[in-house]
Amino acid sequence: MRIVRTVEELRALLKPERLAERTIGLVPTMGAFHAGHRSLMERAVVANDVAVVSLFVNPTQFGPSEDLGAYPRDEARDAEIAAAAGVDLLFAPPVEEVYPDGFATTVRVGGVSEPLEGAHRPGHFDGVATVVAKLLNMVGPDVAYFGQKDAQQALVIRRLVRDLNIPARIEICPIVRERDGLAMSSRNVYLGAEDRARAVALRRALTAAEQAVAAGERDAAAVSAIARTALAQHAVEPEYVALVGADTLAPIERIDGEDVLLAVAARVGPARLIDNVILSTTDGAPQTA
Ligand code: AMP
Repeated sequence: MRIVRTVEELRALLKPERLAERTIGLVPTMGAFHAGHRSLMERAVVANDVAVVSLFVNPTQFGPSEDLGAYPRDEARDAEIAAAAGVDLLFAPPVEEVYPDGFATTVRVGGVSEPLEGAHRPGHFDGVATVVAKLLNMVGPDVAYFGQKDAQQALVIRRLVRDLNIPARIEICPIVRERDGLAMSSRNVYLGAEDRARAVALRRALTAAEQAVAAGERDAAAVSAIARTALAQHAVEPEYVALVGADTLAPIERIDGEDVLLAVAARVGPARLIDNVILSTTDGAPQTA
């Protein structure tokens, strides 16, 4: 696996691949790899001739009071994990390579970037959309892989590539979880033993809601109340519990027909955690009026 620091070197290495019509898959990451990242890498490796992983802790997607300084970084360990997954190229640029002096452009995606995370983390998706647009331009992949863990981010990226005619297909990969259900996240390392035990509340809340829907509950407020009760049982206070259209992120009142995203965000001790599930009533779950 090659580790590459500059856009010039990246382009020089990828040009012959593209000329030979070899497919390129890209996995954008901020490092601190876990099994969720590995699943995206493995997908990129099996489905493409060349697998590129970017490792860049993007400062523009962190708010002023967020954890940019504390964000876990261990490039040597990450490089080992990426190499073991079969990745060909690890693109790990310094901040000045991505944001050189005089950098003055922001990519802002409207609509789907506004509710949920957008409302609680002002500017976050501007930073995400800007860096992902740049990475897609730098690498020029046929396919880029993102995790359903960040469901809203996936929608923002899909909107971005459509709106800017970026010729990459976006593939969303399933959420990888710890044995007890906690969604894998680089931020889970912030959790002490007590908070780690409480953190399972997010998954429990989603499961309780899912079970209620499977049992026939269709009222969004009732489903949301069930999720909130499960969180409260672990003394977890949510930033939001939202039932929204899975493609639009528009609030819904009843779960009937269209796929619904149930998304949760909560602070558990020092960590801000998010999780989600798609509630579907179209695959055999009981349909009520
Ligand atoms: P990050 O390094 O946190 O920016 O994440 C890089 C990519 O990995 C994003 O597309 C995330 O959605 C994805 N990802 C993070 N956690 C998980 C997980 N538990 N399961 C699947 N994908 C994940």
